[in-house]
Amino acid sequence: MAEIKLGSHVGMAGKEMFLASVKEAVSYGANVLMLYTGAPQNTKRKEISELNIEAGWEYAREHGIEELIVHAPYIINLANTVKPEIFELAVEFLEKEIVRTAAMKSRILVLHPGSHVNAGEEAGLAQIIKGLNQVLDNNDDDVYIALETMAGKGSELGRSFEELRAIYDGVHKRERLRVCFDTCHVNDAGYDLVNDYEGVFQKFDEVLGLGQIAVFHINDSMNPLGAHKDRHANVGEGSIGFDTLYKVVHDERFFAVPKILETPWRCEEGSTKKTLPPYKEEIAMLLG
Ligand code: FE
Ligand code: FE
Ligand code: ZN
Repeated sequence: MAEIKLGSHVGMAGKEMFLASVKEAVSYGANVLMLYTGAPQNTKRKEISELNIEAGWEYAREHGIEELIVHAPYIINLANTVKPEIFELAVEFLEKEIVRTAAMKSRILVLHPGSHVNAGEEAGLAQIIKGLNQVLDNNDDDVYIALETMAGKGSELGRSFEELRAIYDGVHKRERLRVCFDTCHVNDAGYDLVNDYEGVFQKFDEVLGLGQIAVFHINDSMNPLGAHKDRHANVGEGSIGFDTLYKVVHDERFFAVPKILETPWRCEEGSTKKTLPPYKEEIAMLLG
């Protein structure tokens, strides 16, 4: 029997770059991994030739890792209509990030749809569609853009399945779109996975289709249902709880879908610095 695909977000830095990412994932007992191609809060990136891709994949194959997910930096905002240079930067960055994602032999690029910054939902969604069309109309790489379900913090778009649907409906190459289903964000957006698990996925199926889920982010939430906050909690320590997260990980309908933990690092006893990754324990817990 095939395995559940479970891993975490990992870093990519130092001389080894992607090789270091894969080693980190292997140390957690993961069989998939997700990374940012540089700092998530900026758009500075190294040349593809400096990412050490071949060595990373060789190590990955030796250790049973077959899938890589790339996450676009959360700083880019395709929904911005207020400052044109922000939108243009997002489009330009995304054009290059798709090429980088393909070069890294990943087929999935996760993207936060964007924030409308007080221009309103309609204007923001139209701008996201415009940006995605600019990027995808001129690109034929074998990469999906996976729009992430968002918590709805501030003016974030993608906080309902319908908003994601609206983006799909405006994109010419919608076959290049997929969804990244983040359990914390979905909870914070107001979808009750705990008490209405089937209902939430039924709703998703009606609006987008379950087959559109290309990746899950498995996170507990520090905040209650519908809080629109987006603060991740460790597995079993938040308002979603272990049982529901376990249910997602083991849901047969999503067996082939990679699942990525983005839970917070822990502090050592007596310290306030987050130095301890929780992923080895959480992966073991969730597989167990
Ligand atoms: Fe994300
Ligand atoms: Fe996420
Ligand atoms: Zn989040």
